[in-house]
Amino acid sequence: MANIEIRGLTKSYGKTVAVNDVSFKVNTGDFTVVLGPSGSGKTTLLRCVAGFEKPDSGSLLFDGTDVTELRPKDRDVAMVFQSYALFPLMTIGDNIAFPLKMRNVPAAEIKERVNKVADLLVIKDLLDKKPGQLSGGEQQRAALGRAIVREPNALLMDEPLTSLDAPLRAQMRRELKKIKKETKMTAIYVTHDQAEAMALADTLAIMNSGRLIQYDKPLEMYSRPSNTFVAGFIGSPPTNLIEAKVEASNGQARLRIGSATIPVDGGMSPKLKDAANGKIMVGVRPEDIQMFPTKNSERSVETVVESTEPLGSSILVNALLGESYVKLVLSPDRRVGPGDRLWIEWETAKMYFFDDSGKLIT
Ligand code: ADP
Repeated sequence: MANIEIRGLTKSYGKTVAVNDVSFKVNTGDFTVVLGPSGSGKTTLLRCVAGFEKPDSGSLLFDGTDVTELRPKDRDVAMVFQSYALFPLMTIGDNIAFPLKMRNVPAAEIKERVNKVADLLVIKDLLDKKPGQLSGGEQQRAALGRAIVREPNALLMDEPLTSLDAPLRAQMRRELKKIKKETKMTAIYVTHDQAEAMALADTLAIMNSGRLIQYDKPLEMYSRPSNTFVAGFIGSPPTNLIEAKVEASNGQARLRIGSATIPVDGGMSPKLKDAANGKIMVGVRPEDIQMFPTKNSERSVETVVESTEPLGSSILVNALLGESYVKLVLSPDRRVGPGDRLWIEWETAKMYFFDDSGKLIT
């Protein structure tokens, strides 16, 4: 298994810049998830790593060796797609054995390696069946088996679980984690599903409009999003972004949100000071907001409940605060309904600030 270094990769289709100057390094054995909305350039990036697309500029290194000009088969990477692409007339065992046969691996070794992979993927009983006799999840497991049996330099996966239904997807997620632990594969996994990304990733690469927006560990990204795009994309529900104005008097910073002002404890960072009298976005996570029937403290601001969604173990409340909507999560025994006027607050330490351009103010 190799480490993969992507350096300044750019790929355009006509006027569309699908991948725009993307750089990051995947360490050996690391499972990196590329996450972004549809059309953000994830698949194009992955296809460039696999060698199916030639980048316009930039380079690609496996273990420090430049592979940018190498053909896909000479890069020794395996790819798993949303469609399973199994050979329909071959048994599952023959499908998995295929890449080894192509490389003239001796029959006894093929048998041993196919059995080992089948054990890992819990598909031993399916080896004599044809793809058409298998469920979607089983077929995807077989496709994964065929990809990892020859122990490639890296495993590249493009939305491999998207066509499975929700319970099966959750099960496959758990199995992928197990496989990841046992094989220590270097992997790049593309998805638009942030929950899947958070569950699987050692490292997350967030893309938008062809650009790499942030490359970080999932929890770091959740607790320290570098900009409003990441804050609004990660977490379920995602971080609230509330428009505010910074005001300062006598060293005390206050945030004006709609008609309310709330103090910022501990004064102001110099950069926040720069935003004084300027507009900023305040980021607060839904689970960090408390709600009270009456004004609870200096920091409380009044909101009007717009709607509620019972989620079973909690209630999701949408409330209007100034010009912004905020989401918060309450315990299911709270009686809250549309039109209720309630007070919300959060601790200073639980909020972060973004400037006019959406960048985190640090
Ligand atoms: P994602 O995987 O994030 O959905 P893609 O990499 O598929 O994004 O696409 C990124 C952009 O490049 C999109 O605007 C898409 O329409 C465009 N694109 C991708 N492949 C092609 C192609 N073969 N020809 C023309 N445009 C393409």
